[in-house]
Amino acid sequence: MIDLRSDTVTTPSEAMREAARDAAVGDDVYRDDPTVNELEARAADLVGMEAALFVPSGTMGNQVAARTHTDRGEEILLDEQAHLYKWELGGLAQLSSLQTRTIDCGDRSVPTPEQIEDGYVEESLHRPGTGLVAVENTHNSRGGVAVPKGHIDAAADAAHDLGVPVHLDGARLFNACVALDTDPTEMVENVDTVMFCLSKGLGAPVGSMLAGPEEFVDRARRNRKLFGGAMRQAGMIAGPGLLALENVDRLADDHENARRLAEGLNDVPGLSVPTPDTNIVMVDSADAGLSGDEFADLCHDAGIQCGAFGPTTVRLCTHLDVSRSDVAEAVERIAQAMDAA
Ligand SMILES: *Cc1c(COP(=O)(O)O)cnc(C)c1O
Repeated sequence: MIDLRSDTVTTPSEAMREAARDAAVGDDVYRDDPTVNELEARAADLVGMEAALFVPSGTMGNQVAARTHTDRGEEILLDEQAHLYKWELGGLAQLSSLQTRTIDCGDRSVPTPEQIEDGYVEESLHRPGTGLVAVENTHNSRGGVAVPKGHIDAAADAAHDLGVPVHLDGARLFNACVALDTDPTEMVENVDTVMFCLSKGLGAPVGSMLAGPEEFVDRARRNRKLFGGAMRQAGMIAGPGLLALENVDRLADDHENARRLAEGLNDVPGLSVPTPDTNIVMVDSADAGLSGDEFADLCHDAGIQCGAFGPTTVRLCTHLDVSRSDVAEAVERIAQAMDAA
């Protein structure tokens, strides 16, 4: 099986397993774990923020951020395809009592300044007020779109002009930075907080980082505890996380593999595959008369794992454990299966 379901399926390298075994540890709730402390310092430095917090998952990082930025009943303004809204079990409502106001950001993937001005709600006797604007880069549901810094900055400036803070869901922040050749510190320069995952393309087994101003991270630490994410000898997972940070530059290989995968599949009659910005390839199987589920089943029978993402779309991800030859093999097997179908 060639597993293209997600870049979350990578397994830790030998070096990561050794780093887990050999990590210096302590009780992180007492701030006694030197490996976690080092990871938090390195992560903050990498994005040019004052501080960072180690969290067990990207979902927790986003939800803790939303909770920390807002008061109950406020509105959060974000794209209707945002992970925070679409794929986190309604956590904004369940965990932070937020009202969600969604915008269709289309191909741009982040709101325009006008959309933020239109969607903004001023607090009054009758209205809750906008407490947070959230943006996403790369944008997962829109196909791994790498959003240029200029568009992030324009959204952040518009929100800040209205006195509203901005959180960046950067689960795949470094994919965006590598694809656009933008330094991470520049990419996040104008947002207030950013979450990024160690467990996706960077290959760590567990964990994400939430970075921002020190005062924010201190409050986020309390909310992490509230959400059940305060951990003890977490150096065991922070050690591999430190090694994951060394995998940033190689994301370019995943992007190149994704381009080859998309080009190969686009040549298969019945499939339509736009050129990806990063490591996420979206295949539309409508012209072949196949639903997303049917196409995913066909791939599965041909030895390729992937998942339906819409009525006639399937998502395929390249990652650390997928080689150039795996990609060529996947294209060949899918082409043959489509021919036989
Ligand atoms: C994967 C993902 C998350 C959540 O990360 P988990 O570690 O799976 O909880 C958040 N945002 C985006 C854009 C993602 O792709």
